[in-house]
Amino acid sequence: MSAAPTPTEPTTPAADEDTAAFADLGLRTELLGALSALGYEEPTPIQSEAIPPLLAGRDLLGQAATGTGKTAAFALPLLQRMPTPRPDGDPVSLVLVPTRELAVQVSEAFHRYGKDLGARVLPIYGGQPIGRQLRALDHGVDVVVATPGRALDHIARGTLRLGSLATVVLDEADEMLDMGFAEDIEAILEHAPEGRQTVLFSATMPARIDGLARQHLTDPVRIRIERERQVAGEAPRVRQSAYIVARAHKPAALGRVLDVESPTAAIVFCRSREEVDRLTETMNGRGYRAEALHGGMSQEQRDRVMGRLRSGTADLLVATDVAARGLDVEQLTHVVNYDVPSAPESYVHRIGRVGRAGREGVAITLAEPREHRMLKTIERVTGQRITVDKIPTVADLRTRRFELTQAAVRESVLEDDLEPFRAVVESLTDEFDLMEVALAAVRLAHEATLPGTADEEEEIPQVAVRANREGRPGAEGRDRRGGGRSRAVGMTQVFIGLGRRAGVRPQDLVGAITGETGVSGRDIGSIEIADRFSLVEVPQGMADEVIRGLRGSTIKGRKATVRRDRDGEGDGGGERRFDPRDRRDRR
Ligand code: AMP
Repeated sequence: MSAAPTPTEPTTPAADEDTAAFADLGLRTELLGALSALGYEEPTPIQSEAIPPLLAGRDLLGQAATGTGKTAAFALPLLQRMPTPRPDGDPVSLVLVPTRELAVQVSEAFHRYGKDLGARVLPIYGGQPIGRQLRALDHGVDVVVATPGRALDHIARGTLRLGSLATVVLDEADEMLDMGFAEDIEAILEHAPEGRQTVLFSATMPARIDGLARQHLTDPVRIRIERERQVAGEAPRVRQSAYIVARAHKPAALGRVLDVESPTAAIVFCRSREEVDRLTETMNGRGYRAEALHGGMSQEQRDRVMGRLRSGTADLLVATDVAARGLDVEQLTHVVNYDVPSAPESYVHRIGRVGRAGREGVAITLAEPREHRMLKTIERVTGQRITVDKIPTVADLRTRRFELTQAAVRESVLEDDLEPFRAVVESLTDEFDLMEVALAAVRLAHEATLPGTADEEEEIPQVAVRANREGRPGAEGRDRRGGGRSRAVGMTQVFIGLGRRAGVRPQDLVGAITGETGVSGRDIGSIEIADRFSLVEVPQGMADEVIRGLRGSTIKGRKATVRRDRDGEGDGGGERRFDPRDRRDRR
């Protein structure tokens, strides 16, 4: 037994202390080591609830959206239950996901968590040369993460054998059904052994998902992460807004938002220590005075950071939830969620750092397009509105900076003792016009306030997210826009020269696009299918990728003409291809 540290000792957490909360869930040391290296400080609510029953081998039906930490919730127990030594080269776990993008993302997660266990993980999806997948399957794998169509292909070829499966996971099941994968899923499950563990995660629970669960899950544990807890009363009154931004543009978006908001001091919440360290470095590189605060730091280090924030030597605190718990800093005016928090409760705790004791506060959330749904859940649970704003443009930023300079000069005129500078101005006015002198002085003042190396010319792409009745872009949203000819902001139409006569259905187009490109089903807008061609709405910035992907592949076994729709280019008077008598299938 080691002696307990004396209260005066700085508390530098050891690796096993770091992940104590994960250890309490029953996870083995190899996994704890990986979590510690990733800088995860505590399990998210879905992880706390799902990991113990999954480790015990129970079936599970979980309602959770992207951003809740659901991938680790099923990946960690699956990795722990992986038998060693492995029976043969056949997989023990199969995870079915709706898109190629998710297949890659989930297998990377398995890889990160399972590296100390030597887990062999393989993503398989349409659009990737099948030969490479065949070779990998042949070498033996433990976990296969697959889109249903390609999984079925391999099962039919006899190259994916499901006889050793201990667990099957259906991830984002509602999305898979929306995309027309119901039959494929049924067929795959028929090939899986009877006594296997089955796990189903879905962001929504329509009757079809319930039916799927009733048929394929045995006495499942049910977890619903967006439980409507009574937190509304606790939420402080702060201005709450969100920006939808692609991951790659997040650092720039954060800088832009901070420049426009010009907080006295702000706290930026990240999910892990690793991200805290990375972002602190990035923001310092962009000229902000940022400090990191996370559970991996000693008490002494944390005190120093807090001191710098309080004294104004730093104005940006980048922190994890654990490290910032209970923090009360008077100067804080802004809370920024660098990611959507994993649960509404965590959102409420975070924004509680500002708007205290009658002070005004602002809470800003940077959400990736996929996390849009989680924002809606938070709104519902807190009973407060989060306005989705457009990321300020370069022009907005310039305007705002001029406003700030003007305010600073005004303040100086009103308050400062300007006499010592009179001689300077007088001697300059011998030579120049007074207005010119004033302009030059204002320019110097203006330039002095610009953050060091920030790339102010960087335009950050706006991402269009349209909401249907459940607040998510999706199949139903496509119907509800009615006429279908009015495009959503930031979307463009792609013309595909195959239609109903070729047997094309909406799910074929969605399958082809998501299978051949990095575009996810949620990014796809309205789909119109006429007799001889189809029109699919995709985000402007992804149109080229979609066109390239579709040109290189077949739909219903046929090559098709694929190009930007002329109408979709916004030239207004483009030819109308639809005959009014033409029947249309829309979704
Ligand atoms: P998911 O909802 O599975 O898509 O996960 C959302 C994000 O949260 C991913 O980037 C994960 O790496 C991250 N994440 C998952 N669990 C944790 C945790 N316990 N602590 C910090 N980050 C996490």
